[in-house]
Amino acid sequence: MYAVAEAATTAYFGTKVYARGIVEFSNVCTKDCFYCGIRKHTKVHRYTMTKEEILACAEFAYSQGMGTLMLQSGELPSPERINFMLDVVRAIRRRTMDLACESPPFPSAGPNQRDFPSQRGLAVALSLGELPSSVYQAFLEAGASRYLLRIETSNPTLYTRLHPASHSFQARRKCLEELQRIGFQVGTGVMVGVPFQTVEDQANDLLFFKELDPDMIGLGPYIVQSQTPLGKLWLEEHGEESAAKQEANRVALLERTTRMYALARIMLGNVNIAATTALEALDPEGRELALRRGANVVMPIITPQRLRGQYEIYENKSGIDQDALDSTACLERRVRMAGKELLLDGGWHDPPHFVRPSVE
Ligand code: SF4
Repeated sequence: MYAVAEAATTAYFGTKVYARGIVEFSNVCTKDCFYCGIRKHTKVHRYTMTKEEILACAEFAYSQGMGTLMLQSGELPSPERINFMLDVVRAIRRRTMDLACESPPFPSAGPNQRDFPSQRGLAVALSLGELPSSVYQAFLEAGASRYLLRIETSNPTLYTRLHPASHSFQARRKCLEELQRIGFQVGTGVMVGVPFQTVEDQANDLLFFKELDPDMIGLGPYIVQSQTPLGKLWLEEHGEESAAKQEANRVALLERTTRMYALARIMLGNVNIAATTALEALDPEGRELALRRGANVVMPIITPQRLRGQYEIYENKSGIDQDALDSTACLERRVRMAGKELLLDGGWHDPPHFVRPSVE
């Protein structure tokens, strides 16, 4: 299975691995997902980066040749936040397009930088949660082109066990459909190994992906956050287990998650699949393993170091003590260790699956 997944990845992407820089610009969230370390009812210092701080991250990503910047935060659908983010998206596009025009730094860049003026500068990807369609539309018009909204589980019953009653599986699914209708390059994904999840649920997650037909997949193992309701439940059941049993659980979760990577690649073919940082909480080489089992994208965290510890959606998050340059250099080495090449040429690198609306 792993060999077939790797052959499929190579057929579509060669040995190239795409990079998207992530900025976790705010940990303020109005939601209360039972597994999340920055849920509304967790005691954590809340922050929101300023526009200039976010722009500095964008310039850094651009200077490193990442091509895409993902802006990620908790969910806050207030008019102030939405207007702030519209302004940020426009500013990132404007500033990085100016940089590209002043001195194109990547002469060897992919065809999009050279041939399509509208794809100069950074592509902006958003992961801001559930918002009204009109807001998604406004973000697209402001210059964002990609949106990641993980469904977390395709089983509506399991969804209700992982979230308070105010959160709706159907509403989340509708958002994904709206994002696709509006014209975003859409990513979704699930947690693997979350309490109450069965193997059948995982099989159905893959069928859900097939039916939704997204352009990008993000899969992450469930990592316990001990201050959350789900984390406490997990610790009650597993906290007293022997070291040997805990080690067996870790290995099994790594295997279970990377199997999902492989099966997603085999079933979905030419989509982008991101090797999540969360795998490193299970194994220091977890991301490399994912890159050999179906993934073709890495998403280095370039949030300023002083804020990283405050965006701890799960425990043992890697890279909290690294600065952005360190984590990028480290990632290049890691990707090489997986026998692949990190592509830092400033290209946007859409997956072949995505058919861009013909506006060029
Ligand atoms: S998973 Fe997302 S929406 Fe849910 S509490 Fe965490 S940040 Fe908020």
